[in-house]
Amino acid sequence: MDMAERVMEAIRPLDRHELEAFISQSPLYSPHRQVLPSYMTHIAPKVVLIRCDLCKAVMPFRSMDGDDWYLPVEVRHINPKGPLRTGLEEKMSGVYEFYFRCSSCDTNEFLCWIHVDYDKDTIRKVGQTVAWSIAIPKELEQDLGGDATYYKKALVLLSQGYGIGACAYLRRIVEDQINPLLNILYEMKQREGADQTALDEITEGIKRKDFTSKIETAAAILPASLMVEGHNPIKLIHDQLSINLHSLPDEEVMAIALRLKTAVEYAVVELNRQKRSKQKFIEDIKSLAKDKV
Ligand SMILES: [Zn+2]
Repeated sequence: MDMAERVMEAIRPLDRHELEAFISQSPLYSPHRQVLPSYMTHIAPKVVLIRCDLCKAVMPFRSMDGDDWYLPVEVRHINPKGPLRTGLEEKMSGVYEFYFRCSSCDTNEFLCWIHVDYDKDTIRKVGQTVAWSIAIPKELEQDLGGDATYYKKALVLLSQGYGIGACAYLRRIVEDQINPLLNILYEMKQREGADQTALDEITEGIKRKDFTSKIETAAAILPASLMVEGHNPIKLIHDQLSINLHSLPDEEVMAIALRLKTAVEYAVVELNRQKRSKQKFIEDIKSLAKDKV
């Protein structure tokens, strides 16, 4: 993102999808600064993604109709006033309560409290009923091998709002994992029947010492099946790692670290999944061939 884009980003008001992503992903007490709409009810969140411990997976949790979360908790409890005697006024700072229920089991509930500060144009989670997890997902832990320790450290730092530290560990993981990922991409390209020049370019990328050009090679050859709604997660990793963090305020660094975490997790798990499903396919074919004999 260049400076002009970053300025535009900063003055564009928070929208519903951004609030939903914030509720789904942000750890506690980490401030997000962005222009806020005059009434929080204008960006009423509908669905957030939370790990449901009954369904044992990340599930969509939906908001309930008819709750009055759009008033700060203290106003609701203490002093409903204002022209409609509902207490609703423009730009009310305070703690807002958000209530969701798992759309799969229809049982598990998720409550989240967000401090909205109109003076500073920031939102900050101050509580939630499903703990922000510093547990590493099983599949990712296996795929990362020895680097899983770095990932756990990154999660702990994120949970405490230390974005720069988290970014340093995530970079370390990408540096270690880029060659294994390039190898998987090489095999995928080979199976797709890519010509020798294309394959040689990947081999060159693997041999190179320079980390940035390795990641550029990986981004350029990522198959369309691994794009997320048109976005290239490897390019996203490259872009986040190219930002000079030391010139940025803490909350912007946290946003970068959270994006980086999501993209690293996705790229590592999805590429390894492709590799595993191919291996399983080959084994299945072999055992079928054996049965025939
Ligand atoms: Zn559930």
